[in-house]
Amino acid sequence: MTKFKLEYIWLDGYTPVPNLRGKTQIKEYDVFPTLDQLPLWGFDGSSTMQAEGHSSDCVLKPVAVYPDAARKNGVLVMCEVMMPDGVTPHASNKRATILDDSGAWFGFEQEYFFYKDGRPLGFPEAGYPAPQGPYYTGVGFKNVGAVAREIVEEHLELCLAAGINHEGINAEVAKGQWEFQIFGKGSRTAADQMWMARYLMLRLTEKYGIDIEFHCKPLGDTDWNGSGMHANFSTAYMREVGGKEYFEALMKAFEKNREDHIAVYGPDNHMRLTGKHETASIHQFSYGIADRGASIRVPHSFVNNGYKGYLEDRRPNSMGDPYQIASQILKTVSEVPTAGKATAAA
Ligand code: ADP
Ligand code: MN
Ligand code: MN
Ligand code: MN
Repeated sequence: MTKFKLEYIWLDGYTPVPNLRGKTQIKEYDVFPTLDQLPLWGFDGSSTMQAEGHSSDCVLKPVAVYPDAARKNGVLVMCEVMMPDGVTPHASNKRATILDDSGAWFGFEQEYFFYKDGRPLGFPEAGYPAPQGPYYTGVGFKNVGAVAREIVEEHLELCLAAGINHEGINAEVAKGQWEFQIFGKGSRTAADQMWMARYLMLRLTEKYGIDIEFHCKPLGDTDWNGSGMHANFSTAYMREVGGKEYFEALMKAFEKNREDHIAVYGPDNHMRLTGKHETASIHQFSYGIADRGASIRVPHSFVNNGYKGYLEDRRPNSMGDPYQIASQILKTVSEVPTAGKATAAA
């Protein structure tokens, strides 16, 4: 038997977006545990905005498990928060609202800033560094500094070791700003992995004395880019059947539900969705082929393949909850009638 360190990770009850929480328990197993070998656990919900002090127990239900390469015999356990009965989802549990669809694929592009001493990493104590231009996909100390790349590489290794489908990295437009992408098949997979990748990044940067700033416009109304979390999505029907008529009906549904989408696409998005800096206006829904100034960008390949494939919703921001984003996208997609049935096979 080996003693494994199980890190149970969940989302708290803070609004408009939750924070990650985690605590460890040690358990013995012969080999690395499977999901069904992981017991329910509990925590004090009165400390996380999930319960009143007089009845404070909330239940943690393991829903995904990953190896934790940063710890000897480490296990990362993503959990849903349940009511004391262990079966009713807690009101803060948005993962439970995602429609089941094994044929739904999501690819999230997480942008974020490294922050140190209250400003983006690499910014001088007063004023600004050279204007943005050379930083996006840049190389060299004057563009990316001395530690950022070390962190993103270490984070990449942790994600890959965990089995997270990390798809790539790039330095972003603002100094101190970076992006990574996570792709997953199944309506909850990419969102689970995104939360776990965020956890790994936040935990990793503790030892560097660096914070991750997820706010979508940390530098306010300046000429510095904000941060998004573009949501690329497709269903089996979109990939296999699609068609112009279906696409146009889908876009109508997205237009009709604009406010429901914006409500879960991350706080303060009015600061970011201004129509400048490769964004669309928050007040209007738009779509366009290869248009990075539209709400939804339609890739060239989508049109060339007879309106089949994936679409990019560019509105979700860096602080948005991928569970709520995936949930709303699939809800809107489900409102649009389909002509036939696509196989849900990957
Ligand atoms: P860009 O920065 O040009 O918008 P990225 O390469 O950063 O593009 O991100 C594109 C994302 O689209 C990736 O995360 C990728 O996994 C995702 N993606 C590709 N094909 C599909 C698909 N069929 N369904 C959902 N997401 C997809
Ligand atoms: Mn990208
Ligand atoms: Mn980007
Ligand atoms: Mn994008």
